[in-house]
Amino acid sequence: MTDIIQLLPDHVANQIAAGEVVQRPASVVKELLENAIDAKATAITLVIKDAGKTLVQVTDNGIGMSVTDARLSFERHATSKIKSADDLFNLHTKGFRGEALASIAAIAHVEMKTKTANTDIGTHLCIEGSKVTAQEPAVVPQGTTISVKNLFYNIPARRNFLKSNPVETRHIIDEFHRVSLAHPAVSFQMIHNGSDVFNLPISNTRQRIVHIFGSKTNEKLVPVSEETEILSISGFVLKPEFGKKSRGEQFFFVNDRFIKSPYLHHAVASAFEGLIKNDVHPGYFLYLQVDPHSIDINIHPTKTEIKFDDEHSIYAILRATIKHSLGQFNIAPILDFERDKGFDTPYEYSKKSPTTPSIEVDRDFNPFEEKPKQANIKFPFQRAQTTGIRARSSWESLYIGLEGEEKEEGSPEDISFESEEVTGNLFGNEDAEEGQMSFQLQKKYIVSPLKNGLMVIHQNLAHQRILYEELLKNITVREAVSQQLLFPLQLHFSKPDVEIILKIREQLEHTGFVFSKMEGEIVEISGIPVMVLESHVVNLLATVVNDIKEEVPDEGYSQNDMLAKSMAASMAIKSGTALNKEEQQHIINQLFACKEPTVSPKNKAVFTVVPIGELDKKFI
Ligand code: ADP
Ligand code: MG
Repeated sequence: MTDIIQLLPDHVANQIAAGEVVQRPASVVKELLENAIDAKATAITLVIKDAGKTLVQVTDNGIGMSVTDARLSFERHATSKIKSADDLFNLHTKGFRGEALASIAAIAHVEMKTKTANTDIGTHLCIEGSKVTAQEPAVVPQGTTISVKNLFYNIPARRNFLKSNPVETRHIIDEFHRVSLAHPAVSFQMIHNGSDVFNLPISNTRQRIVHIFGSKTNEKLVPVSEETEILSISGFVLKPEFGKKSRGEQFFFVNDRFIKSPYLHHAVASAFEGLIKNDVHPGYFLYLQVDPHSIDINIHPTKTEIKFDDEHSIYAILRATIKHSLGQFNIAPILDFERDKGFDTPYEYSKKSPTTPSIEVDRDFNPFEEKPKQANIKFPFQRAQTTGIRARSSWESLYIGLEGEEKEEGSPEDISFESEEVTGNLFGNEDAEEGQMSFQLQKKYIVSPLKNGLMVIHQNLAHQRILYEELLKNITVREAVSQQLLFPLQLHFSKPDVEIILKIREQLEHTGFVFSKMEGEIVEISGIPVMVLESHVVNLLATVVNDIKEEVPDEGYSQNDMLAKSMAASMAIKSGTALNKEEQQHIINQLFACKEPTVSPKNKAVFTVVPIGELDKKFI
């Protein structure tokens, strides 16, 4: 039998390789931008036409190429970036496979102009379908411009496979974001069909993020920073309340290279646990630096996935660092209600058309009196204005229009709870302090009227949320106050249980526990958290030990989270506990001062709102 195996001609091999490297115009953008970065450019311009289908052009002011290199750069496996297999494990460049330009040249009309610093004359080169059609000297500035025209002109099937222009443009912008976010010290410009899309000056990371995503982003960023032996982390996470229902801004950069890592994403997501609802995705811009020897970026043709030697530790460090950052930064409370314009008008007026204020002059009126008598001056919209202007936390705005009087400025704790005259006011007294009105249902729910509905709060879950946030803060920020016990408590536990308490001793101390002795089966406690009753301590510790036994958390911070959840569950007021008005109000106020008042630490809904419309329907 005759030999049947033959080597594929180069241009065919290149076309096949192109299938791997170039899926769409955005792939070309990525490769060209990365080459420009590798060439040490400080200014890069990307020009595209028709979503890159007609033209993708990248101009850089990098090192350029000699005449020979310009020609060689389009050969397959031609690269200046590695010389031996060993170099693969010490990569400081984006590219190294030497197949991008060869692949691109196989499926498009490519033109290159390039010049190095030490020559006066540069090179101009044209390639179509892997064939050089022209190469001549040219007067060009230092650096390189590569234009890729008519992508997939010789593979109609691939060309037809491309998506609509908006979709392809989106992909290009994604790549542009990734490269420009990784290199804030390089200026970037992007022009699409003749108009400026991005113009990013040289800056720091924070400014780069803000330049790309808009000035509002600035206040959403929580800095993240950690330096350990195996990796350093810097960058930002978005405050939990800016999480998105769809995957929004999520960027990992490892050694300045954008990567995708479901595993590391999980680490970040779990750091947000309890602060963000299940179906909301956190946003982040995280820059990891690791020893190039400890990663393998060679496992994926387009190199967005990498393998870490020490994945486990990186996961733990990343998670811990983000937890810490979130704990340190005071994250403003926000309530998950759409604020509608109606909130600005008090309820009793919102349905009426404005009437001319009837003004009767009160001759006794003294403007310098502390509390002017109200009786004779009626000016319906004044109150609406003052309440609108005053900066309130969003939960308070739910009550606007329900209050009879302006509350004192200050934290929710300052609000007085003396609203016992509620019963007296039920029937039509305009001045009823309805904003502070609540009652208990079945010793389980706290029911409170809202401007346009009824809020039903689960008292136990609400209290869990309040305690959980407080405890978590104490554990991570370490500022709990403890109450000294007159006589130390001596508690007996089994030996394995004492072991567990020993393991979490430090965290418990952060919540306010003071252990004076731990020996054999005896735990002696001389101080307890202010929010814990002495009589409750045995139970509390037993519950925590049990929870830890059952869940077996494997590293520091998930243990903190668990501990906070467990303590919160154990300490929270139970269903079946009667609460007086003051206690009910206290729960409401504290709940809405929480970062995430809508869900319990274990992700159950804390309250529900019955809109007035629902009630109305019952009476039709
Ligand atoms: P790789 O980047 O994997 O080395 P490429 O096919 O992308 O492979 O590029 C081949 C070579 O061409 C590079 O190694 C580099 O030497 C040269 N090159 C490509 N683009 C540029 C550029 N913009 N400036 C200078 N040299 C470049
Ligand atoms: Mg390359």
